[in-house]
Amino acid sequence: MSRTTSRPARLAAAALCAIVAVSCAEPPRDRADLVLGTVCSVRILDGGDRGALDAVFERLRGIEATMSANADGTVVAAINAGAGVAPVAAPDDVRYVLGKALSYSALSGGAFDPTIGPVVKLWNIGMDGERVPSPEEIAAALPLVDASAVAADDAAGTVFLRRAGMLLDLGAIAKGYAADEAARILLEHRVKAAVIDLGGNVKVVGKKPDGSPWRIGIQDPFDDRGARIGVAELEGGATVVTSGVYERYFIGDDGEHYHHILDPATGYPVRNGLASVTVISSSSIDADGLSTTLFSLGLERGMALVETLGHVEAVFIDEDKRVYLSSGAGAVFKLDNPAFALTPLPFP
Ligand code: AMP
Ligand code: MG
Repeated sequence: MSRTTSRPARLAAAALCAIVAVSCAEPPRDRADLVLGTVCSVRILDGGDRGALDAVFERLRGIEATMSANADGTVVAAINAGAGVAPVAAPDDVRYVLGKALSYSALSGGAFDPTIGPVVKLWNIGMDGERVPSPEEIAAALPLVDASAVAADDAAGTVFLRRAGMLLDLGAIAKGYAADEAARILLEHRVKAAVIDLGGNVKVVGKKPDGSPWRIGIQDPFDDRGARIGVAELEGGATVVTSGVYERYFIGDDGEHYHHILDPATGYPVRNGLASVTVISSSSIDADGLSTTLFSLGLERGMALVETLGHVEAVFIDEDKRVYLSSGAGAVFKLDNPAFALTPLPFP
């Protein structure tokens, strides 16, 4: 079985390609490194002191060291080991990210669920040993997916998973938080213009030296990373986050394409005709939580949810290369790939 997309070389190329049309007043200062399970790159175009990039990457590694579900010794691993046993001390940032995740779980009626861990672990998509689990294994894991059994106690500074075997997975939202943190740290270090790209989770900081808007490509979900369907023109502080079937997947022995966004109701990859959902906003943690949420909800319910939220736009792409925009997305996003068709919503 198994052909995966998560190859560092391709990701590295993509990280650079996501940064479009830069022209700069002083030589750019770039760094790209494997952190948070992906290639993270930061390009400073203007301002900033000597320690800016070191401080950002130190913070990214710190977030990985607390929030990764795939490594030993993290806070999330300790919370998981304490499932059904006892509350575990968790720092403010972990509880903040978990709180956001739980809010998207509530907002989506459970389509987004940070306790999806037992199902993620069965599939192991993008890791060694990825495979199609048996229906029995999935049936055994599903009762452990239950956001209502998470107890986060801010006064005590703890998190408790009430049932043994539960596993927290913040993979759908932690990179967004990391991008917000990277932006905050760059500004603290007097950076005036920068692009942060955490494996396709992009945030722009400040004003481009030439005064033009930032231009961020939106990934073509059917092509190699770096190929785009169009461009978003954005002000500083904006973020563009995509959830898609191409991010992590494998082809099973049965020839099926199995991707990494899993349906908490069935335990199988979400199949609703969508290929990707991109969220354009100012808070990257929210855009990351929402991109996964909207993908899981599907076009009709997802679009309805976006339209209830202020300052958030979304671009949905379906498997037939149709592109659907939220009501304000057309003002910032321009489709320029002729293989895709802007399409009116097929419902009122
Ligand atoms: P993203 O790329 O931000 O859409 O996040 C996908 C990642 O979130 C997966 O690799 C899993 O770690 C996790 N995940 C998968 N399905 C769900 C779900 N339904 N709700 C929350 N997290 C999920
Ligand atoms: Mg996400």
